[in-house]
This record gives sequence, C-alpha cells and structure tokens, in this order.
Amino acid sequence: MLVCPTREEIRALTAGYRRARRSVGLVPTMGYLHEGHLALVREAQKWVDKVIVSIFVNPTQFGPNEDLSTYPRDAERDLKLLKAEGVDGVFLPSAEEMYGSRGGAFVEVPELSGILQGALRPGHFRGVATVVTKLFNIVQPDVAVFGEKDYQQLTLIRQMVRDLDMPVEIIGHPTVREADGLAMSSRNVRLSDDHRRQAVALSRSLDRAEEAARTERNVTSLDALIRQELAAAAVGKVESVDIRDASTLEPLGDTLSGPAVVLLAVRFGTVLLIDQRVIGKI
Ligand code: AMP
Repeated sequence: MLVCPTREEIRALTAGYRRARRSVGLVPTMGYLHEGHLALVREAQKWVDKVIVSIFVNPTQFGPNEDLSTYPRDAERDLKLLKAEGVDGVFLPSAEEMYGSRGGAFVEVPELSGILQGALRPGHFRGVATVVTKLFNIVQPDVAVFGEKDYQQLTLIRQMVRDLDMPVEIIGHPTVREADGLAMSSRNVRLSDDHRRQAVALSRSLDRAEEAARTERNVTSLDALIRQELAAAAVGKVESVDIRDASTLEPLGDTLSGPAVVLLAVRFGTVLLIDQRVIGKI
C-alpha cells in the first residue's frame, strides 16, 4: 500500500494503473476510520482493480463555529486498517498541499447546497463539492463510493457528476450501524455516555417511520410521529426532521406517493448527529 502525501505522487500511482489497464476506485474520507468506511472500501473492491482511499479533513467544508480543530484524527491507526483491507494507495495530503496555491475557484450545486443541512451549515456543500471535484481531478477514478449516511452529500455529488459530465461512476452504500442501531460516525467518540445512550433514538425513530409508512401515507402525521419518538427519548436538540423526495430532495405534498427520505439532524452537546432512511418504497 503506497501512502502519498502529494498530488504528484498519487497522480503518478493512478496513471501507472491506467497505463496497465487497471480500473481505479476512490473512497474519499476524513479519516478516523470505522466499519462504515471499511464497508465502502470493500464495495469499491467489488467494482474496480485498484482502490485508493483519501484521508483529508477538508477545512473548507467546516463553518467558523464548527468542529474542525477537534475533529478526531489518527492517521497511523487509519493506515493500519486500510492496509489490512488490501487498499492499494492512500492519498493523505495536508491542507497546504490541497489549497496552498488556491485562487478561490469553487464548485457549487445551487439547488442542493442551500437546503436542509446546507441551510444549517452555510458553505458546507460548496466545500464538499469543491474538494470532491479536486479529488476526482487528482485521482481520476473510474468509480467513487460514498455512504448513504450523508444522503444529501451523495445526492449532490450525483447531480454534480451528471451536470458537469464528470467521467466517474458514483456508487452509494447503505449506512453501517452499531449493534443498537446508531449510525457509525467518527464523531460518535465525542458523545458523553448519556448522549451515547440517547443517540439510539435517531435510528429507532427511523424504524418507526419506516414501519408506519407501510400504512400511513400522510406526511404531516409521519413527521409528527418521528418528533414524538425523539421527544420521548429525551434526546438532545432536534435541529431538523425532513421528509423529502428520495431522489431530488424536493419537498413533498401531503401524501407519500413514492420513495421518500427521512433526514434527521440532532445535536448532543457540541456533537451534531445525522441519520436517514428511505421510506415508502413501493
Ligand atoms: P467521512 O469520513 O465522515 O467524511 O465519511 C467518508 C465517507 O464514508 C462518506 O461517503 C460517508 O457517507 C461514509 N460513511 C460515514 N459513515 C458511514 C456509515 N456509518 N456507513 C456507511 N458509510 C459511511
């Protein structure tokens, strides 16, 4: 496994793969890896010959009051885990390497970047779209794998790739969960014991919503049910509950008429947890 701190080194590695007619997959991450990330790596390995993982805590997708400086990091452990998975190359750049000579160009997906999580985190999705574009241009993968856990991010990247004709296939992977249902996240380690216990309410309320949607088609009732479940568990501050069209993220009318996605964001102290579930599949 080759660890490349510079764009030049990772480019040389993937250019060699392409010359040898090997297909290349990319799994972008911010590190502090868990089973969710490793599941994306295994998914990528099904699609391509060579898998590259990037580890980069991208400063441009964090707002001024967000957790950039406290975001958990452990590159040594991450590299061990990736080596054990048979990953071929790791792109591990510094912020200076990625943005040192940056002139301020960016990528924006306007319909999707200002809504939902984007409304709570101004500038976040511009940062995401820009860094993912840079990673695609640097690594030039045939395939890239993203988690459904960050559902809006996955939707936005799919649209960006489609609208800008980027020559990469986007694969989504279902959310990997802890035994009690909590979606795995690098941020979970920062939950207090109490908050960790309460955090199961996110997935539990999504289970209830999924179950209820088999018979209940009224969107307001489903929304109320989810909020009740969260309130009953006395969880942290519910930042948002949204039920949207599963492919466009547009608001729904009164009645579920096809697949919809429930998007939750709940704050526990300083930790913002998100989760999602597609409901109403026909
Ligand atoms: P992050 O390191 O949090 O930026 O995540 C890197 C990639 O892993 C993104 O595509 C995430 O959606 C994905 N991911 C994070 N947590 C999970 C999880 N629990 N299950 C599946 N994918 C995940």
